Amino acid sequence: MRTVYLNGEYIPENEANVSIFDRGFLFADGVYEVTTVVDGKLIGFDGHIERLQRSLNELQMNHKVDREEMLQIHRELVTRNNIDQGMIYLQITRGNPGDRDFAFPPADTPITIVMFTQEKQVVGTSVETKGLKVVSVDDLRWGRRDIKTVQLLYPSLAKMEAKARGADDAWMVQDGFVTEGTSNNAYIVKNGKIITRNLSNDILHGITRKSVLECARLLQMEVEERPFTLDEAYGADEAFATSASGFTNPIVEIDGNKVGSGAPGPVGDKLRGLYLEENRKAAL
Ligand code: PMP
Repeated sequence: MRTVYLNGEYIPENEANVSIFDRGFLFADGVYEVTTVVDGKLIGFDGHIERLQRSLNELQMNHKVDREEMLQIHRELVTRNNIDQGMIYLQITRGNPGDRDFAFPPADTPITIVMFTQEKQVVGTSVETKGLKVVSVDDLRWGRRDIKTVQLLYPSLAKMEAKARGADDAWMVQDGFVTEGTSNNAYIVKNGKIITRNLSNDILHGITRKSVLECARLLQMEVEERPFTLDEAYGADEAFATSASGFTNPIVEIDGNKVGSGAPGPVGDKLRGLYLEENRKAAL
């Protein structure tokens, strides 16, 4: 049984209880982060903590994240649960006002903070060699996708639609342009150039995206940050997706069309290699 963290305490998972009045439960009024663990160490920790603080600020949640305290809790959970590869999930909600009301509770209402580990192979997976198939779906999410909220019902529906259509994931499309995957940022490669949607409120500002684009520049690859169409994606030489736990994952098919040769491409492969090398060196 896992040891989880709830509001200052390390407890067995079956003893961790949150109120039925919690704003996270009633209003999806919460934010989250997922930090990947490789060799028992945290990948991209500071990026996740900075984005967490930004999400809280954007939702006017009155909580100052203490980096040192968070680092210590992350490490303690890794140790107590003996995690070599996997993830640490962290969620903060606006807490328990003791009743249901659309208006926010008083600013001094304690937040709810939950953290737990997930054990999962993240390095050397079969996806690296086989790639993923995606289908396109309309992007029906709200307009502040830059805030990492726990409102994940639409991405969850999109994922189920993808599976029903024989694919692994969905790429969401708005006004003819790809926004992102259900839980990853989307990229295509054409004539050696990497194209990925520019940062705005339309997509999550991926921690992996930032690091992978830095790797691309180190490798002197050309990067264009702009929206791309589905047709461009169908005609791309290569496609891939980035996320904290997937690093860069090759996309080999979009809506039944083979991308390039239909096998994982060299640009994504190279980026994955350098990303892992750099981030393992910097892991905490
Ligand atoms: N977009 C969405 C919608 C996501 O849910 C995620 C993963 N949380 C990402 C992109 C990738 O972000 P990151 O690299 O920080 O995991």
